[in-house]
Amino acid sequence: MKGSSEDGNNSEALEYFFKLLEKIAVRRNLDPNVMLEVTKRLMSNSDSRGLSDENLEEITGIRQNEIRKVLRTLYELKIATYRRGRHPETGSTRYYWTIDPNMINIFIYSLKKKILEKLKKKLEFEESMTFYICPVDGTKYTFEEAFDYNFICPKCGSMLVEYDNSKVKEFLRKKIREFEEEIKEDERKLFGSRSV
Ligand SMILES: [Zn+2]
Repeated sequence: MKGSSEDGNNSEALEYFFKLLEKIAVRRNLDPNVMLEVTKRLMSNSDSRGLSDENLEEITGIRQNEIRKVLRTLYELKIATYRRGRHPETGSTRYYWTIDPNMINIFIYSLKKKILEKLKKKLEFEESMTFYICPVDGTKYTFEEAFDYNFICPKCGSMLVEYDNSKVKEFLRKKIREFEEEIKEDERKLFGSRSV
């Protein structure tokens, strides 16, 4: 996830952001291609007045109701904002949408913080537990589970052996350090030297 660019909006973070958007789209029954297309159009739009759903339809050929669903989601995620305006010809109310690149950075930053919390919980769990494993099918059990099964694998009847999870813990600690460093770097870029 680390990039060499100094502008805080490096391409690796963007790739990550786009992958996430695809996942969010799928989870919300939206077309991931529409999600990406609309987001990218808004990001590359240099006109600070923004683009309306009608403008986006003209540019992309995607139907307005599909576009609006995506815009609503981007708004909920605090990635896109709108301003109210008037249609240049009909005078009816229209919403003009923009994406502030800083919002994307903040979005990625808060996501990293969530992942870090999950990693810390996972490490805590691994540190507090003794695990057992079936040497035949590789199924892992906590001590309590293994105890309940009399240390015999319920799947295949093999004798369970104690599982050394030091590699897992080592991996988690490394990941946690990486995320902590990235978060610190993001904070420096987003909020100056002040830590949040
Ligand atoms: Zn087994």
